Parts: sequence; structure tokens; C-alpha cells
Amino acid sequence: MKAFDATRRFFHRAADHLDLDMGVRESMLMPQREVQVQVTIERDDGSLANFVGFRVQHDKSRGPMKGGLRYHHEVDLDETRSLASLMTWKTAVVNLPYGGAKGGIGVDPRSLSLREKERLTRTFVDQIHDIIGPDTDIPAPDMGTDFRVMAWFRNQWEKYHGFNPAVITGKPVEEYGAKGREEATGRGVGSLTVKTAKRLGMKPEQSRVAIQGFGNVGSHAAKFLAESQFPIVAVSDISGTYYCEKGLDIGSVFHHKLEHPQGLLEGYDRCDVLPINALLTLKDVDILIPAALGGVITEENAHQISAKAIIEAANGPIDPDADVILNDRGITILPDILANAGGVTVSYFEWVQNRQHYRWSLDRVRQELDRTLSDAFENVWQTAHEREISLRDAAFMIGISRVRRASELAGR
Ligand code: GLU
Repeated sequence: MKAFDATRRFFHRAADHLDLDMGVRESMLMPQREVQVQVTIERDDGSLANFVGFRVQHDKSRGPMKGGLRYHHEVDLDETRSLASLMTWKTAVVNLPYGGAKGGIGVDPRSLSLREKERLTRTFVDQIHDIIGPDTDIPAPDMGTDFRVMAWFRNQWEKYHGFNPAVITGKPVEEYGAKGREEATGRGVGSLTVKTAKRLGMKPEQSRVAIQGFGNVGSHAAKFLAESQFPIVAVSDISGTYYCEKGLDIGSVFHHKLEHPQGLLEGYDRCDVLPINALLTLKDVDILIPAALGGVITEENAHQISAKAIIEAANGPIDPDADVILNDRGITILPDILANAGGVTVSYFEWVQNRQHYRWSLDRVRQELDRTLSDAFENVWQTAHEREISLRDAAFMIGISRVRRASELAGR
């Protein structure tokens, strides 16, 4: 199923509970603006390479549009549109004063040298800088991009518009970035997993966790959960699944990743190594955390999942048909728009600090992150239980109602 069709189905399921008419629904689903640009760079060997870049600005009813930039070979307009609309509901469900956007380039970042990646980023900024700004649309990291890309982006944007670090978040800490931004998404996933387990009466030491993806999000979630006494029995990345029945030593897995030239787990041998796709359907797993690509849990494998709870660290990992199957099986799903909202929340704190020319301590960032996510979690959990609907439907309902209310107050 195409990514935006999946998001559209989740949207309609929640909108049915809100009694919204079709005209309103379509106006909320349709992006404000979609931009597609050519990104041509000179490679280190002097040849030209051509890529396509996108920025989809989905909704601005609640504030400037906000969302990451993804560098991945599967990036296309449909996926970007789906991710942009998820940002709209995500910022609304955690009540940040933002709308939603997303961008990216269809490129395998591993095929580029550091200099080529810099040229790619600067050329992309040349193409889209006029629709980006601290009060219009504020990009951030996502899959395949990091603080370096954010620093190049800002530097190139400032060549056109002058000094304004609030134009982008996820910057290096020494260059107007926020302490705790890099860990924020994974930390948020971890702390919300702890809350979900508690509500389900699951004890940390007896709740076996499997995490698909050991990038920025998966690795920080693993670290947080290991520190909270959860046994992490399996993690995976594009090189395979790494499994240990008694629980992996996350410190040494983390260390291996840092030492590997491409940040992979390849060669980690202090556990069993299984095929990549073995992770999702491992037996004896209580909590499953997909933290990689979208669309990985489908009708095909939903029946084989043994976990009692799934925490969506990735955006859109479960397709709508699989979601129905998992709900029927009584599996609790903490939806992406809440589960991975820690990243954009700390992006908001970074933007606030930039605008005030003030720096928060790491403790303050962590405390405010925890408070923001706890409030959103309580609200979603309560709504789901009062109305007897899934956590996903509750989160979408809250997000959609806030966006709708903002447009109504503005007279639209
Ligand atoms: N890319 C992240 C997300 O999907 C973070 C976005 C942001 O910080 O603006 O939520």
C-alpha cells in the first residue's frame, strides 16, 4: 500500500469518530504546498549526479510548519506527503505550536562522500530556501541526515537570508543546537515504552524487548530501556539481526556501532546472528519496537508477531490492514505520532532557545521532554479508554481536533 493511502485510512478512521464532513476532511488531508526540485551535484571524480528533492508543507493552522529531511533511496513524493501529514498530527498531539512538513532527497547517503553530501545539501537549499524560514517552515534531521547536514543547511540558507539559527533544528550543540536533541527521539520512545508497560502491568525485568533498526532512534531507545532494566533480546540493522536469549549487552553493541565506519552492527559476534527479517516475528518477545522504515508490518506477518505491545518508533511501520489484525489480537500499539514525538519536542525547545538567545541545561531539556510526553500520553490513554478505541485512533482524534479547532478560530 502506498504510504499516503495508509495515513489517509488512519485519518478517516479517527475522523469517523469526530463526525467531520468530507469537504473538511479533504481540506485537512490535502497539503498546502508540494515542491519538487532537481538536485544536481558534481561528484568527487568530476562527473555529474542528478537527484530529486522534495519539501511538502502539509498544514500551518497551528503554527510554522515543522518536520525532518530524509536522505534515502526510497524517498518520493508520496512518502514525503504521508510523513508531512503525520508531522501535522504529531505536533498537534503533543501540543507544540507548529504545523507539519517533511522533505527529503531520493539518494542513498552511503553512496556519497562527506563532501558530496555537503554539496547535495547546499544545492538543495539553493532550490528551496525561499519557502523555508523560522516562522514558515523549520526542517530537522530524519533518516540519513544528522547535525552536520543541519549545519550546512543553516549556513547555506543564511547566505540568502542572514543570521537566524532558528531556521533549522538538530544543529550541532556548539552551533546553536540543543543539548539532548540527538538522543531525544530514542529517549522519548524509551520513556513512553516504560509508561505503556506499566499500564499493561508488565514488569521491566520480565519484559523482553526486540528493536528493529539501530540508528539514532533505535540505539538511544535501547540504551534508555536497558538502563531501565528491560532485557533487550534482539536488535537489527541492514546487516542482520543480533539476538541473545538472556539479553544483549547494549553498552558493547553501542560501542561496536560507534567503531564501525558506517555505524553498523556488522561483525558484532557476542550473540547469535540471524537474518534481518527474523526480528519482527521472534518468539518470546513481549515488546516490539520497529525503529527503521515504514510499512514493515503488513497482513503477511501481522499474525506471526508474538509481542503484547508494539511501540512505533519509526513513522508508519504498521499498514492499516495489519493494524486491524493486531487490534483484533489484543496487541497494544503506541502510535508513531505519539511514540516518536520526543524528537520534534526537543526541536521545539531548540527553536525556543535560539529565539531567546538562551541555553538550557541537559537536565532541563530532559525534564521538559518528560513532562510534555507524559501529558500527551495521559491524554491519549484516557481518551482511548473512555471511548473504547485504539491508542492510534485516540491520538489521531486529538491531533485532528486541535488542527480543526485552530482553523475554526482563525475563521477558516
Ligand atoms: N524527523 C523527526 C520526526 O519524524 C523530527 C522532526 C523535527 O524535529 O522537526 O518527527
